[in-house]
Amino acid sequence: MGFFNFITQEIAIDLGTANFLIIHNDKIVVDEPSIVAYSRSSGKVIAVGSKAMQMEGKAHEDIRIVRPLKDGVIADFHAAEHMIKGMLQMFQAGKNRLTSSFRMVICVPSGITEVEKRAIRDSALIAGAKEVYLIHEPIAAAVGIGLDVLEPNGHMVIDIGGGTTEIAVIALSGIVCDQSIRVAGDNFDSDIVHYMRRQHNIMIGKPTAERIKLAVGSALPELQEPPENVAIKGRDLMTGLPKQVEVSYTDVARYLDRSLSKIEDAILKTLEITPPELSGDIHQSGIYLTGGGALLRGLDKRISSRTKLPTHVVEDPLRAVVRGTGIALKNIGRFRFLMR
Ligand code: ADP
Ligand code: MG
Repeated sequence: MGFFNFITQEIAIDLGTANFLIIHNDKIVVDEPSIVAYSRSSGKVIAVGSKAMQMEGKAHEDIRIVRPLKDGVIADFHAAEHMIKGMLQMFQAGKNRLTSSFRMVICVPSGITEVEKRAIRDSALIAGAKEVYLIHEPIAAAVGIGLDVLEPNGHMVIDIGGGTTEIAVIALSGIVCDQSIRVAGDNFDSDIVHYMRRQHNIMIGKPTAERIKLAVGSALPELQEPPENVAIKGRDLMTGLPKQVEVSYTDVARYLDRSLSKIEDAILKTLEITPPELSGDIHQSGIYLTGGGALLRGLDKRISSRTKLPTHVVEDPLRAVVRGTGIALKNIGRFRFLMR
């Protein structure tokens, strides 16, 4: 195959802080946490994705767990490269085979520097791609939501991921104004750890905090369809013994209040710097929430009441970005100028 230089295959990648997704032929073929596990003694990769995640918090001395992305940017390039390679191998472990010349589109945070872009591109080339394109996440999200990003109408898209919340106003294929803040899903988990300790004297780990968030996470102290309380086991700080407490959604809404206010402040700030013509558009079309954080119960309502704007949670928010990246890849003629 290597003899011809045709592009015979295309894959789209969402290189997220929390989750790594690959689309191939319109299908999501990889959806794994962005984690790599190494053996300290040999320096070799022993697992990527969910297998590596299962080792987190339980690893013995020889295992080193790395999350290559932090706060939306690549914190460890070597690990990112290993992760891309490992995920491509995972994809090929089924019946799929990658030829020697495939095209890859990767979506990247909008605040990324040229140096970081080059590093990601190099990682993709080392991983075997022939052609590499990068697309900005908010644009990919907007395309994935089904908004027409090529027209002059303005749209506001908010992507609440693991490490960052990206707030962007998009019109005429570009990002007109945006804010990126380091308050997102991971901070919600830390908030829960912090308050569980302060209020219940119980020590829990981040994975347990995330479980609480998924089970009874809420942005509002009152919900129309409240989830049932969840029972949580942890270590009692006074006695050092295991203990169990019940957590309600109202508790979690209180724990997350400060972080959510910070996100709301950033949204208001972005609205303030939005050109008036586009403000009019957004007033009509409202705000689109995407990323895993969009799934927090009552968040749309909370943001809507603070901004006085209609607020929509997009369909399948954990996958909107990779969907949009896939669509851009398929229509590369139309979207090429968006990818650099
Ligand atoms: P990234 O793009 O940074 O990889 P994602 O968009 O994949 O992030 O979102 C991951 C974040 O969403 C994690 O912090 C995860 O805990 C959170 N998340 C996933 N599902 C839910 C849910 N149902 N409620 C609240 N948060 C969620
Ligand atoms: Mg993301």
